[in-house]
Amino acid sequence: MRFIPNFIRPLNDSDEALWFVYHQNRLLIQTGTNGYIVPRLRDLEKFQPSLIRKQFLGSLDQIPCYAAELSDHNLVSGLFAFKDLRALFFGQLEEELVWIAGQANQLVDWNRNHQFCGKCGRQTEDGQDERAKVCPWCHLINYPRVSPAVIVAVIRNNQILLANNIRFKSGYYSVLAGFVEPGENLEECVAREIKEEVGISVNNIRYFASQPWPFPNSLMVAFLAEYAGGKIKTDNTEIREASWYTADNLPSIPPRITIARQLIDWFVQNQ
Ligand SMILES: [Zn+2]
Repeated sequence: MRFIPNFIRPLNDSDEALWFVYHQNRLLIQTGTNGYIVPRLRDLEKFQPSLIRKQFLGSLDQIPCYAAELSDHNLVSGLFAFKDLRALFFGQLEEELVWIAGQANQLVDWNRNHQFCGKCGRQTEDGQDERAKVCPWCHLINYPRVSPAVIVAVIRNNQILLANNIRFKSGYYSVLAGFVEPGENLEECVAREIKEEVGISVNNIRYFASQPWPFPNSLMVAFLAEYAGGKIKTDNTEIREASWYTADNLPSIPPRITIARQLIDWFVQNQ
């Protein structure tokens, strides 16, 4: 499957179109025999949903994909259910569809939060030739926001640093991550976040890969770094516990689809 993002919606509505519909940050899905299914237009038409703020996302193997919000979820029943986007990262939906659902979540969130101009407070309009919210009075333009964050595997000889974040609902351990601050480059962000969260210094910081992270609008930029000094001392505001782990003694770790897991898998394969 191949997804091609696009802003310009097709001229004709296809009843084959896939609709990524959210209500209060949860995705509308159908339950099928082999897991979850993203509903097509012909499935949605049966219950005439009250869809608002519709946006075209692009095409998946030439099938148009749309995002929207559902203003009234009371009509949804039977084969339909709402699922938390995070839950879909555990393999109940095809991976390509998870990422489109993530993009839909980012754009639905952005659209909802930019109904009014942040400068003069008047109602905004959709951009004509680009994905933007435009103020017709003061002409302020708001594009969908992407917030860069770094995620880092810190390696010390044959060990990797893994931490349990206070925000993790489940008990899993992962590599450290944090948002980039204004005026800072990615490598400086890596060094600062590691120092702030666990009190150690790192060096030999190098790029690994990147991944969109739709909670709600991050781009995760992944790095490898080597331990350079200091003793682990957690900040206790973000990190509950952090320790060094060898490849043969890992705790519970994130699902395979995540870049956090790809960093941990890289560490394991390179032992
Ligand atoms: Zn304005």
